[in-house]
Amino acid sequence: MFHNRLNILPFNRGISREDLAKRAQVLKIEELSIPESAKQIILKSGITELYPPQEEAIHAGALEGKNLILASPTASGKTLIAELCALKNVLEKDGKVLYLTPLRALASEKYEEFKKYTTIRKKSGRKISVGISTGDYDSSDPWLERYDIIITTNEKADSLLRHRARWMNEISVIVADEVHLLNDAKRGPTLEVVLARLMQVNPDAQLLALSATVKNAEEAAEWLKAGFVTTEWRPVVLKEGVLLQNEVHFKDGGALKIEKPTRNPAVNLAVHIVKSGGQALIFAGTRRNSVSLAKKAATGIKSVLSKPMKRSLTRIAGQVRASGERTRISELLAELIQQGTAFHHAGLSGAHRRVIEGAFREGKVKVLTATPTLAFGVNLPARMVVIHDYRRYEPGYGFYPIAVLEYKQMAGRAGRPRYDKIGEALLVAKTEDERDYLMESYVLAEPERIWSKLAVERILRSHVLATIAADFAHTEQGIYDFFGKTFYAYQYDPKAIKGVITRILKFLFEENMIEVSGENVYATRFGRRVSELYIDPVSAVMIRDALFSRAPRLTEISFLHMIARTPDMFPKLRPYSTEIDDLALFVDEHREEFMFEVPDEWIDRIDYEEFLGEAKLAQVSNAWIEEMTEDETIERFRVQPGDLYRLVGTVRWLLYASHELARLFGHKDLLPRVAELMERIKKGVKAELLPLIRLEGIGRVRARMLYGSGLKTIEDIKKVPLEKLTSLPLIGPKLAKKIKEQIGGFVKSREWKKLKKGKEWEQQALTEYSRKSE
Ligand code: ADP
Repeated sequence: MFHNRLNILPFNRGISREDLAKRAQVLKIEELSIPESAKQIILKSGITELYPPQEEAIHAGALEGKNLILASPTASGKTLIAELCALKNVLEKDGKVLYLTPLRALASEKYEEFKKYTTIRKKSGRKISVGISTGDYDSSDPWLERYDIIITTNEKADSLLRHRARWMNEISVIVADEVHLLNDAKRGPTLEVVLARLMQVNPDAQLLALSATVKNAEEAAEWLKAGFVTTEWRPVVLKEGVLLQNEVHFKDGGALKIEKPTRNPAVNLAVHIVKSGGQALIFAGTRRNSVSLAKKAATGIKSVLSKPMKRSLTRIAGQVRASGERTRISELLAELIQQGTAFHHAGLSGAHRRVIEGAFREGKVKVLTATPTLAFGVNLPARMVVIHDYRRYEPGYGFYPIAVLEYKQMAGRAGRPRYDKIGEALLVAKTEDERDYLMESYVLAEPERIWSKLAVERILRSHVLATIAADFAHTEQGIYDFFGKTFYAYQYDPKAIKGVITRILKFLFEENMIEVSGENVYATRFGRRVSELYIDPVSAVMIRDALFSRAPRLTEISFLHMIARTPDMFPKLRPYSTEIDDLALFVDEHREEFMFEVPDEWIDRIDYEEFLGEAKLAQVSNAWIEEMTEDETIERFRVQPGDLYRLVGTVRWLLYASHELARLFGHKDLLPRVAELMERIKKGVKAELLPLIRLEGIGRVRARMLYGSGLKTIEDIKKVPLEKLTSLPLIGPKLAKKIKEQIGGFVKSREWKKLKKGKEWEQQALTEYSRKSE
């Protein structure tokens, strides 16, 4: 194994002299004070000794139950420490472990990693069990109680705390992954509140916070009453530098000239690395750039691909074409994959992203261009990382240079442990001045401090309500006390947050979400439900008022626009200037259907344009339930599949919340309507397809096909002979049998055999397509 012990840079106070002396001897897995059964599984996975940061963590008391922040680069083995603590706790103390991640994809990744331990038996004789829960924010998931190790997202953990899931009080080890995200305006506050609450509920639990290397790990550690280990150690040596035209300048003063097969230096660098047997990951600032770079790279790469590799890539391209609906994006992606490159951004469907990630990990896709979201998501290392754009564009704000922390996250993806001896991360400069600037501001720079982003009224609102509604505090002082324990209060003056909280309490009181009786503060039924539904109190007020006042003419548009207007509908859609006229027309035509007054175009221009954006969201969700194809959605609205799925997910959640609020306020007449709309949004169909789509294995494409073939009801399908069913496009014998069986039909074995034989060839071609498109 390649151990680079010289690369330990104790650039802050985290590592003492004694610690360094201890490191002369490598700590072996066999020597750890964890149960033998756990050691065996770890050894079997090929790990025999600890990496230096891991050793540090052990010396700092990780296995003695100490709270700890482990701030160390990606792939330096932080997860293993979490695994060791979790296993020790479960096996020796029959404890319960909660593992928090910021993203669903990361939760699944961790779940897969922990699954390897489920063969180990606990003292009770039962095997270790691992559970995962990332969806449905309106549930306490009592079923999770039976698991020893529970993996969730931060948001899910927040919602579980609001539901006061009983098992949460039994947690004895809390692992918080990627805690540097405390600095993130969007995701940080939830993580911060969840950690503060968990510490309140389980003061004796061990807290293990895993982080990228940050400047003030010590400060975060003090807040968490934890020790800390900070290293810049990596399993693969990282060479950082800047590319200017065809010359690379490294941090250590070295330089390298590369060939210029194309006019794009970043692409030339990628070709250079592919020719020497490696892979490159190019980070672009925007989706559009990621696509254009992938196209440029393809021309340079395709000539270096071997014949068997090309065949392999053709197969992967086929997988892309067969997953989900075909769109111009999936077509382009498939074409590029055939040439050894791919792009990866949030506009792609999850299925396509997974295919690309797999193909890159297997070394088949040679050059992957990606937007920065990849740097914060799944683990996809490459021998070379090129950071093509160090500026980002924010609408209304303009271009700004990224943080060093972000640069480090991207650069840190360079070097595949166990495969590469060296990883290279390069920024791209256009001039010598820029090269010097990049060298100084990124390559040689230390990552910034992390700062709490909690004290924003919009964000705090729902956390203040939850504090009262879930019984974490009963008095105004109790609420201040709780927020006085957050990282924000630790970093800034607690008084700074007090003013915001007071304003929020006033709002919650005026909107009837809380009641005050003497010193005490209680949540009303409305307040409690809003907290459980995990929506912004402002959204709840908008929905409540809209449901009472109603539109003159209630249609799907009324409800879809109502939720599009809430602050929980995020991201908002900005209409393109070319769409403004069409949207204005749409708003005019549907004026009677809106639950809210349309702002005056001439008096409130800004409000009016915002309204048009909400109308666009309603239009897109309406197009989805009117069965517009994904490709048409891209063409008509410039909304890509990844965005569409996220949008649909948020619409579902907010429709559910609206349904629950309609129930709470006694709008019985609205319940069936909203429920039907929810189901249509879930599947993307007109109401007439709902009976068909409830069948397992039938998605919107097949349901429409069945309907179009005259099979409009379950009764129709019951009556139709099996043979006729299989003669329809997209219905193989297996699926036909499954359909028949679901509706209570019985398939004779002779009939089945005959069919199966005749249809085998066809089925093979269709199975992939059908499985994925459903
Ligand atoms: P981090 O959580 O710091 O990003 P990971 O825990 O994902 O890093 O570790 C990266 C890879 O290194 C994993 O594949 C893991 O199995 C491997 N690994 C971890 N510790 C060791 C070790 N001591 N020896 C060899 N491989 C290790």
